[in-house]
Amino acid sequence: MVVASHTGSKGSIALGDPLVALTGHGLYLPAADLYLDARSAPGAVFVSHAHADHCSHAARILCTPETAALHRARRGARDSIDVPLNTEVRVGGAEVTLYSAGHTLGSAMIVAHGAGGTVAYTGDFKLRPNPFTPPARIPSCDALVMECTFGEPRYRFPPDAELIERLYRFVDDAFADGATPVVLAYALGKGQEALHHLTSAGYDVVVHGAIANMCRLHVELGHPFPGPGHWERYRRGQIAGPGGAPRVLLTTPATRMSAMVQRLPAKRIVYLTGWAYHPGAFNIYKDCDLVLPYSDHADFDELVRTAVESGASRVYTVHGPPSFSQHLRSIGIEAEHLANHPQDAEALLQEGGDCGPGGQLGLAL
Ligand SMILES: [Zn+2]
Repeated sequence: MVVASHTGSKGSIALGDPLVALTGHGLYLPAADLYLDARSAPGAVFVSHAHADHCSHAARILCTPETAALHRARRGARDSIDVPLNTEVRVGGAEVTLYSAGHTLGSAMIVAHGAGGTVAYTGDFKLRPNPFTPPARIPSCDALVMECTFGEPRYRFPPDAELIERLYRFVDDAFADGATPVVLAYALGKGQEALHHLTSAGYDVVVHGAIANMCRLHVELGHPFPGPGHWERYRRGQIAGPGGAPRVLLTTPATRMSAMVQRLPAKRIVYLTGWAYHPGAFNIYKDCDLVLPYSDHADFDELVRTAVESGASRVYTVHGPPSFSQHLRSIGIEAEHLANHPQDAEALLQEGGDCGPGGQLGLAL
């Protein structure tokens, strides 16, 4: 599985694989005539989810209806082919089905079955539960393209239930000390997961506008936040609830040095990120009181399980460390690491990096 140097159709650099090609616009599925999470492309683009580094400027996109709505809110109107999960549709010369990816509301993997076999692309995913998605489904395929952001053995996350309990204890301790608990999470995905867990446990929450906009869209798409806790959009200086009741402040990592956070008379800051296990985390997050490895990505063991259970005869890894493909080869799976895909650091930095290598870039923010 050596990357050939010749240029094929559509300017592609062949991977030596009839099911998937690497082009100047990123990965491409010839049978379905679809580009994968391409920032721009001459044809239709499969958008796996609506994080900034996966949104597309292409004229035509294919995605779930939920991702189409979120994408529209972030990037404006597009001609979109909306495909609900687990519904087979004919695209080009392939039968295409989208599987839940468990990453964010609307996130999906794509599985394309054509004359040459079956290929799947995971996009960002996790196998752990997500309150806004059905459980992720591992595709059976001949060739698998998978993201491997946390493809190192140090990234093995505790059960979510344990992390959520630690979050609740952190909030309780802050309130007991008369401090405002400040929860840092990205605008789309973890922001809503955090809010879901907080309100369902009865905490009242004020939510930064960037997260609140996405929360409102979740509600519009049929995913309200459970009580008994309440939430509302943050208004300047208004942290306490009616009667001075204490509330949690939920905001984005990029705002933690802002006046909104820094001028709080007393605060405790917790950051939700899988990069908590990065070897430099102690220094990178030294302004935080706690960093919890709550992530919307698969951890190392989930990544290995996905590669194995897919039954793929060859695996292409994107994002994450090249060493993950070496690990797959060491357990008998033919694997090759491709360069980061999509390659657009600018969009990640603008948003504070809410997925994939954005997490790595986000370390410096
Ligand atoms: Zn993502």
